[in-house]
Amino acid sequence: MKTLVTGGAGFIGSHLVDGLLTKGHEVVAIDNFVSGRPENLKARASDPRLQLIQADIRDVSAMEGCFEGVDWVFHLAALADIVPSIQKPMDYYSTNVTGTLNVLEAARAAGVKRFVYVASSSSYGIPDKVPTPETAEIRCEYPYALTKYLGELAVLHWHKVYHLPAVALKFFNIYGPRSRTSGTYGAVFGVFLAQKTNGKPYTVVGDGTQTRDFTYVTDAVSALILAAESEISGEVFNVGSGGSYSINHLVRLLGGDVAYVPKRPGEPDATYADISKIRRMLNWHPSVSFEEGVRRMLECSEDWKAAPVWEPDSVKAATREWFEYLGKAS
Ligand code: UDP
Repeated sequence: MKTLVTGGAGFIGSHLVDGLLTKGHEVVAIDNFVSGRPENLKARASDPRLQLIQADIRDVSAMEGCFEGVDWVFHLAALADIVPSIQKPMDYYSTNVTGTLNVLEAARAAGVKRFVYVASSSSYGIPDKVPTPETAEIRCEYPYALTKYLGELAVLHWHKVYHLPAVALKFFNIYGPRSRTSGTYGAVFGVFLAQKTNGKPYTVVGDGTQTRDFTYVTDAVSALILAAESEISGEVFNVGSGGSYSINHLVRLLGGDVAYVPKRPGEPDATYADISKIRRMLNWHPSVSFEEGVRRMLECSEDWKAAPVWEPDSVKAATREWFEYLGKAS
């Protein structure tokens, strides 16, 4: 089996590459190394079955030849994070939408057998119902969510029109080792672990009672591989942990002081996936508990030693546009 992973040097992508190599696949990982890092795959550097190619999914010619003989494509490459998506919506559009079209067309031309797209639970916005099923209304609150959703629509459209055997998995708050240690203000685990290893208080948003469906990365990888192995196409599946955990609970597990920062506009009080569809149709279930996942993160917390350490004032500056634009809308 030959498999191509876009964003293969990223946080989730590199864990997927690990999983595929362990299964005996030949893997082509493409990454532009903007947020992905070759170090994420350093344990695999000498594996002759892995080809790591620097290419940007916006650049069709850079990907030429990469899809030759490929059986499965996992499309993970994307721009993430909320604030930069508000600042630069066109960059998000070109990578997350046009880039997805480029990958779809390359996969179609190569006649791949399976195409798996990583979609985002952020498209549910502030849902009426938790646990949230795949049938929930789409309510994108910011350009990142919108562009990931447009990518999802494109994947389903390529299935409908061109019969590309494709599925989309909607990931809920994936965390685990190798989650980003640099760049803009982002996902809570990286923020808190950098604060912990540098002896600073955790910047808890609001009163910390909000909950998130924190899903451990290796569970996300097993969902991706099952989705590729399956013969089901044209479907969207939620991928979550089967629970929803408060920020206060996370702080208790990590241990340490807290500094409160204001609640952000457009944020749900809870994200919680209804995973009955993927359980039923793909026979997938999560296996790493939140407590176990946090324990594993603590084991590698030194990885965040050199990461940016956020404090209430820098969080305020970093989220200025978030309050400015989304605050007005609500
Ligand atoms: N959060 C927090 N402090 C931070 C960053 C995030 O308390 O410095 C909270 C945030 O309010 C949210 C949760 O952590 O409830 C997850 O945030 P993240 O940005 O990782 O994901 P998302 O909001 O997209 O679910």
